[in-house]
Order: sequence, then C-alpha cells, then structure tokens
Amino acid sequence: MPALPRAFGDLRMLALNARDKAYAPYSNFQVGAAVLTRDGRQFSGCNVENAAYGLCNCAERTALFSAMAAGCRPGDFVALAVIADTPEPVSPCGACRQVMAELCDGEMPVLLGSLGGATRQTSVAALLPGSFKLP
Ligand SMILES: [Zn+2]
Repeated sequence: MPALPRAFGDLRMLALNARDKAYAPYSNFQVGAAVLTRDGRQFSGCNVENAAYGLCNCAERTALFSAMAAGCRPGDFVALAVIADTPEPVSPCGACRQVMAELCDGEMPVLLGSLGGATRQTSVAALLPGSFKLP
C-alpha cells in the first residue's frame, strides 16, 4: 500500500478536480471524491443531482461505482478521499457509508476534507459501525 500521506494528497487533488464537474443545480453543494485501488488506479466522482431528488447520487458512490464499472471488485480499494465546501471536513451521508461498508475493508482509511484545508482521517468501520450485511 502506498504511503498514506502521499496517496491522500493525490486523492485529495483528484477529488478536488472531480468536484468541479459536480452537477448540483438544486443544492449548489458540489462534492468530489476519489478512490485508490490496490493496483494503484484512481477513480474520481462528483455528485449528480436530479429534479427527482431521490435520484441524486453522491460523489463517493459515483467514484466507487465508476471503479466497479471498470472491473474493480469489493476489497480492491485502499483509500478514499472526499471534499466539499464545508467549514469542517465533509461528512459522508448514510447511503455512501453503507456502500463503502459493502465494497471496502473496514480498516480502509477515509480522508474527509474541506476546501479550506481542514481534514480528518477516519475509517470505513468508524463511519458506519454495525453496517447492514446479508447473512
Ligand atoms: Zn452520500
């Protein structure tokens, strides 16, 4: 696994660039995310909103789903970064936490960031203890 600080720096930049592509005409809340795979590939995502609000997709899920569409499988991921214009490091929603819990190892580091530079490192398991899993 690459050294986390460097990997997170790259991921943060990728997430920041992805944020510029957000389609958020309703909330005006742009979010970017990026994931790193075990084999060194990076996938980014932005939030994509819809007039039917329930169809909106978050940046974290866009990044993970893009990686899955490119052939990645659960457990292939080693780090995820997400960034938004928030006073504190942005906090992923419950849906994204559940998707991370399904596709990523519990100990996988997650970097939460803000445009102002605030960051907080956490993990998938810390973000969603007791996640839903089929028996
Ligand atoms: Zn979300």
